[in-house]
Amino acid sequence: MNFINSSLGLTNDVEMQFNLLNYSTGGLTFTKKANAQFTNEFKKRIVDIFKYFPELHKEIVLVGWIAPHGWARGSCCCSSVSTSKPLKISLQPNERNFTIAHEFTHLLQARKKEELQIPSGERACDVWALTRLPLELIDDYPSYIGNYLMRKRWDTVKNIVRELAFNAIQIRKTKRQYIVWFEDEVKKLGR
Ligand SMILES: [Zn+2]
Repeated sequence: MNFINSSLGLTNDVEMQFNLLNYSTGGLTFTKKANAQFTNEFKKRIVDIFKYFPELHKEIVLVGWIAPHGWARGSCCCSSVSTSKPLKISLQPNERNFTIAHEFTHLLQARKKEELQIPSGERACDVWALTRLPLELIDDYPSYIGNYLMRKRWDTVKNIVRELAFNAIQIRKTKRQYIVWFEDEVKKLGR
């Protein structure tokens, strides 16, 4: 199964990255629809975000397209049981970096749960996604954690919130209520 279209007309730079990520043992592959509908800039951004998920680099990861303006900004289709099917995320065109990272994090939840000690669920997904991207690539707030004030003042608090996410992951090693802890700390930022 190879959906890569070699006549994409990408710049050499981008083409080289696609090739690097499509070695025979795994890599990121755009579905035909995504390949046709996504801009090269967006595809490059997805490839860049994927670099921060090294645990998935030996897997075949499909990236699909979903219709713009629908309620779902991204989705993930993966089973922790069946490892024969390739992992897949789907995205609306031009989705934010954070949404892309959120969907890749779902794949970690599906396949690397034990290894990385990632719990299931949307809130856990947001906490872990925050710690995957460098600060400068975090272009949107998480939607399943935090509060109104955090979202309103996102640009000024995102560095602190990202640090809190790292701390929450440490805290979870001994305390199951790490999200409660995280939410309490975020509330304090609003004071
Ligand atoms: Zn999600």
